[in-house]
Amino acid sequence: SIVVTGATGHLGRLVVEGLLDAGVPAGQIAAVVRNKEKAADLAARGVELRVADYNAPETLAGAFGAGDKVLLISGSEVGQRVPQHRAVIDAARAAGVAHLVYTGVLGGPAADFDLAAEHKVTEQAVLASGLPYTFLRNGWYHENYTEHLAPVLAHDAVVGSAGAGRVASAARADYAAAAVAVLTGTGHEGAAYELSGDVAWSFPEYAAEVAAQSGKPVTYQEVSPAEHLAVLTGAGMPEPIAALLVGVDAAIARGLLVGGSGDLARLIGRPTAPMSEAVAAALKG
Ligand code: NDP
Repeated sequence: SIVVTGATGHLGRLVVEGLLDAGVPAGQIAAVVRNKEKAADLAARGVELRVADYNAPETLAGAFGAGDKVLLISGSEVGQRVPQHRAVIDAARAAGVAHLVYTGVLGGPAADFDLAAEHKVTEQAVLASGLPYTFLRNGWYHENYTEHLAPVLAHDAVVGSAGAGRVASAARADYAAAAVAVLTGTGHEGAAYELSGDVAWSFPEYAAEVAAQSGKPVTYQEVSPAEHLAVLTGAGMPEPIAALLVGVDAAIARGLLVGGSGDLARLIGRPTAPMSEAVAAALKG
């Protein structure tokens, strides 16, 4: 089987749909989910459900079978992910899976910002497992920005501390298509793909795009990292998460998310969808 963890998440759903669209029979796709009800639509389409929680290693014993190709989609509980991912890797190794594909972060070992730390340790654990692997080092999603347009439109401001840094973000759907290409293709063992959008944009350019499409006078407002932290916590974000995001802007300022490898477009066989499309989709609601 082709097994997708995090299958009820945004990326996981797109991967399962992409596998079905690519002609993989539903009976050969298994979704690892912690909440069966949330996956009822997948089960209705014939996808096998395997219930497991990364926090309960014993539940992972039934998640994988010998010869499976497994996509480990990194977890969303920041700070908990090293033991969680280790539990998945251990279960995959014990089951004798044929191929373990992991969604890490752009730059891999070179990504020195705090949000990347768990991905780096996970990659090391995958290497140590001895399993055939592929690393999908995902850059930023367009949706990280476009799903948070409400405060931008309320204040006519994109606020950040990334300076003139550029981000080669890409649509979640394109990262999902890359995962489908690897899971259904051959020759990807041992590869580490640096996945990013074809175009790297700056925050002033992003603000100008939102202004052009919304008709509102949105501009980019550069603030210091300390001010940025205060803006995010002031909007209700927990301090540790806000600090991680300010760290991401510092990484963007240093050019760490600028991409440029072309791996994503090559894997999906077409240009990546531009940020302007994600802005349009978000404004349409
Ligand atoms: P989502 O939050 O939509 O999906 C995360 C998935 O992980 C969900 O299916 C969730 O299950 C599952 N999950 C979380 N914790 C556990 C657990 N303890 N046991 C089992 N399953 C668990 O994120 P996306 O799909 O948008 O992104 C996928 C991953 O990519 C994220 O988890 C994160 O690691 C990373 N990411 C990358 C970004 C980027 O810009 N490159 C931005 C944001 C995240 P459930 O559906 O039950 O909640």
